[in-house]
Amino acid sequence: MNEALTLARALCAGELFDVSDFAALLRESIDESDAVLRDAAVRVRKQIYGNSVFVRGLIEISSYCKNDCYYCGIRRGNQSAERYRLTPEEILLCADEGYALGFRTVVLQGGEDPFFTDVLLCGLIDKIKTAHPNCAVTLSLGERSRESYRSLFDAGADRYLLRHETATKAHYEKLHPPVLSFDNRMRCLYDLREIGYQVGAGFMVGSPFQTKEDLARDLCFIRDFQPDMCGIGPFIPHKDTPFAAYPAGTLDETLRLLSIIRLLKPNILLPATTALGTIHPQGRELGIQAGANVVMPNLSPASVRKKYALYDNKICTGEESAQCKDCLALRMASIGYEIVIDRGDVKPM
Ligand code: SAH
Repeated sequence: MNEALTLARALCAGELFDVSDFAALLRESIDESDAVLRDAAVRVRKQIYGNSVFVRGLIEISSYCKNDCYYCGIRRGNQSAERYRLTPEEILLCADEGYALGFRTVVLQGGEDPFFTDVLLCGLIDKIKTAHPNCAVTLSLGERSRESYRSLFDAGADRYLLRHETATKAHYEKLHPPVLSFDNRMRCLYDLREIGYQVGAGFMVGSPFQTKEDLARDLCFIRDFQPDMCGIGPFIPHKDTPFAAYPAGTLDETLRLLSIIRLLKPNILLPATTALGTIHPQGRELGIQAGANVVMPNLSPASVRKKYALYDNKICTGEESAQCKDCLALRMASIGYEIVIDRGDVKPM
């Protein structure tokens, strides 16, 4: 029998994999082993979440960034990037619009923009939570100090998304300039967890220099750290970055990893990301059908969407929020799933 099929069945049976097992599975995968992983992933996801898909309204609050990550279109060094930052009033209006559309989680995401001080963010979080006490507030604002994370949590933030990007230190150093460190990224994740946030980790699939062993270490990290959420999507090149000429990650590998992650933590919150929808017209539907259970439609004002360009050809930059939500609701319905009005917390297994 093909090695991948044997490995896929072993993983579904709950056998403990090491780095070389995961790497072999990723290297040898065939259609049959993917189908085994997918069926098992969908089965366990349905046991916990049924046909429900959770939605998060994503507000991209700033395209200013002090960092220079080699893969990212809004890196500081990209002189061609048009920059914007939303005012607190604009952000509140987006949150209100999201609430009216049925979102019960708003995600504030942005570049690392020093304009957004703790005082400003705490005021903003407090206003959102006061206006919408039954909404979860998720932050995705990069690396901050432990004290900062604590203040934002005390102000009412519930969750924090910070992709670890890669669990391999040497690989991390190939994706980031020397001032950014793997150790600090990990420090942030452990601080966030200790403070009490629901924490999201994650990584890009097919980022430059990534090996199957690197991906295998990402999987071991997810299994061992047990984040509440895991954001994964294909790397997609941006024309004005040092990685402009590298190929995008593939649909098949991203779907395979979604299934594996679902099996490693059956109740994990796993988005079918915009990047997945960008590399394939049905990417998000296929992501749900591989084991994902979250979608994150864009709530940013349509006027700024094109400027939050982390990678080329990003979808949903021309639509209004209501259109994005309706479009995703239809897409989910077309595959037998239903978008629900719910905070979308982790369900116990
Ligand atoms: N600045 C924040 C959040 C914004 S970036 C932070 O550092 O966490 C959100 C995610 O987009 C990143 O974690 C990265 O994994 C992803 N991303 C950035 N550039 C990308 C690209 N070219 N292709 C695919 N995903 C990318």
